Amino acid sequence: MRQIRLYDTRTRSVRPLEPREPGKVGIYACGPTVYARVHVGNARPFVVFSQLKRFLEHEGLEATLVANVTDINDKIYDAARAVGRPSAELAEEMTAHYFADTGKLGLGRPDAEPLASEMVGPIVELIEALVEREHAYAVDGDVYFRVRSLPGYGELSGRDIDEMDQGEGLEGADRKADPLDFALWKATKEGEDTAWDSPWGEGRPGWHIECSAMAEQLLGLEFDIHGGGIDLVFPHHENEAAQTLAGRRKPLARLWMHNGMLQLSETKMSKSLGNIRGLGEVLDEVGGETLVLYFSGGHYRQPIAFSEERLQDAARAAERIRDAGRRLGPGESPAELAPLCEAFFEALADDFNTARALGALYDWVREANRRDGEVGGSHLREMLEVLGLASLLGDEASAPPEARELAERRTAAREARDWAEADRLRDQLRVMGWEVRDGPEGPELVPAA
Ligand SMILES: [Zn+2]
Repeated sequence: MRQIRLYDTRTRSVRPLEPREPGKVGIYACGPTVYARVHVGNARPFVVFSQLKRFLEHEGLEATLVANVTDINDKIYDAARAVGRPSAELAEEMTAHYFADTGKLGLGRPDAEPLASEMVGPIVELIEALVEREHAYAVDGDVYFRVRSLPGYGELSGRDIDEMDQGEGLEGADRKADPLDFALWKATKEGEDTAWDSPWGEGRPGWHIECSAMAEQLLGLEFDIHGGGIDLVFPHHENEAAQTLAGRRKPLARLWMHNGMLQLSETKMSKSLGNIRGLGEVLDEVGGETLVLYFSGGHYRQPIAFSEERLQDAARAAERIRDAGRRLGPGESPAELAPLCEAFFEALADDFNTARALGALYDWVREANRRDGEVGGSHLREMLEVLGLASLLGDEASAPPEARELAERRTAAREARDWAEADRLRDQLRVMGWEVRDGPEGPELVPAA
């Protein structure tokens, strides 16, 4: 098995991935705060960590990816108030959009996508542990984390403790023992329309504690990889790490992995600039394959420039791969091309360098195109599977497991001569966008025309 190396933000070094439990890797990636439709930049961590999971599975590891949805947050109260709607309703609607939009990327779903609102019990329990260990204190129904009670705070982000700003503004300033402290629990304020019971009265959790509790609940402590955008390192991840270490005396995660931001005309893409494009809108325009290929063209740690031109480049590259795929045969690829396929996977093992891996994939395509006679496509299929792009080959491999299961049941029904059931399953598949074609090698699943 290849040794997989990843850059760890905490130690600022590339480290070998040494799973907590042999053969198993747990990944937690911070998901969106659902106060509006997600923008195209939000798709980057979704793509990076979904592809990482696929690669780890290719390498024989059992990977569990948890990506949360922050559906309790100040931003949601503010956005709901601005349009005069209940905050829970707005969050629910935006969560549904997020699932639908990211679904169109064609990468499948994470293994778990917990909502903060469904995890308030474990969140309260972790805050209680922090209060008990005197790392947190309650004031007027709020609870704050006592930052200076934890030696080593600031290690993840590498910031000097005296130059930190928790970004909470004036909120709670008169109740905090130290301006450096941050909120774990906030008492319900006027204009907030959701609240949960706690030992400190009605209120709701702060953002950072939601992730600490959800990650622990689903992956345990000291899980393998904690990920998210580089903009989350401070204060969000610093605080997640601090809460768990203080409350449980064990680290939250073994390795911290951060993706670079999307850049538009030299400026970081953020919603406040108003130059952002919605993920759903971009997907409707270029499709999931082009967008996934666009993201794969940059190293995950680097910022990536976003422009129409880059998207067009990716669309052309997708077409080149499709084109090559049409000329390939179904069988094994020639051994002489194996070093290029190997270079692809080596690049992924080397700090998940999808950009370099794609270079090897394009070299493979060029070499295959140059050959006379039919070339077997097994290498290309294997590489594209890991990137979540096997659909470029328009083949069965890209059909979701539910569709494959239906297709198998249809085959069984036909073998049992239950034509009515077979037809019913065929119709059900068509609704999902798939069609069974009876080819020379048996039934094949292809995207419905
Ligand atoms: Zn988080």
